[in-house]
Amino acid sequence: MPPSRPDGSVIQELLEVVHDRHRHIDDGEVASYIPALQRANPDHFGICIVSTRGDVFEVGDSQVEFTIQSCSKALVYAHALSVHGRAKVLERVGIEPSGDAFNSIALDSSNRAFNPMVNAGAITTAGFIEGADFAERRAKLLRCFSAAAGRELTVDETVYASEAETGHRNRALAWLVTNFDRMDPATNMQTLDLYFLQCSVRVTARDLAVMGATLANLGINPLTKENVFEMASVQDVLSVMSTCGMYDYAGEWMFRVGIPAKSGVGGGILGVVNRQLGIGTYSPRLDARGNSVRGIKAYCDLADDLGLHAFNFMNSGSHFLKHVI
Ligand code: GLN
Repeated sequence: MPPSRPDGSVIQELLEVVHDRHRHIDDGEVASYIPALQRANPDHFGICIVSTRGDVFEVGDSQVEFTIQSCSKALVYAHALSVHGRAKVLERVGIEPSGDAFNSIALDSSNRAFNPMVNAGAITTAGFIEGADFAERRAKLLRCFSAAAGRELTVDETVYASEAETGHRNRALAWLVTNFDRMDPATNMQTLDLYFLQCSVRVTARDLAVMGATLANLGINPLTKENVFEMASVQDVLSVMSTCGMYDYAGEWMFRVGIPAKSGVGGGILGVVNRQLGIGTYSPRLDARGNSVRGIKAYCDLADDLGLHAFNFMNSGSHFLKHVI
């Protein structure tokens, strides 16, 4: 008799083991520099995996809402590339890891933001969400994010107001890139507002996993089948997520986990295993770099146990997962 094939319950069991292993870790702090983020429950912990075939596996607080924060940067970059193309986007924002913190006030040697995953680059990239007025731009942004999640997403108005009230450093970054012609001075403060809004969209770990699976599935949401991003943009987005998605932890992350990912100070991490699956984790206690402590642990385990690292020998042509899900 041939050996029996493992089925999806292997993944579900693994999620439960990983969740149980790390749910008592209480290292790290909930972000407080945006005052409204402090309302998060520090004990919440959810993990979700969505395959490009549309299977969903989830555990813990995977359906608790929190603000997407910087995970949004990957989606807005994908939108900008899809609508405007690589050349236009590259004119305004680079693709080199900065090695600096996410809010660093620094530009590259041609006076562009280093990459779209740090705040200076993300604010610049929000300029590519165009519209006749703010309402139209807001609607376009929410439509894109909702399509990627496969459900109607809303804005946390308290976090949004809190960001706008306290985001003086981001305001300074918007003016800095405007000074070097990367943003239109007539609309740069509106674009900054749109950036605050994109960070304040409410999502769950499950939403992040569906968004990740949409990128993994060549831009098509595997649950709704909607074509959200241009196929050609996905390669560029995943490349930049690989090199810059975890800020000044990006090198160690790629070495250790090996999955293109994007973290946010709300406690989410969105990961993409190309052509296979999306992963979303949520746990709001952050390390000094602004990455979720339990989220990192969960990704390390999943990468090891499922052989998900881009250069892992088991990850040759989706070998393992093809058999499981
Ligand atoms: N809204 C946050 C900020 O601009 C996003 C930062 C993050 O998630 N790293 O500071």
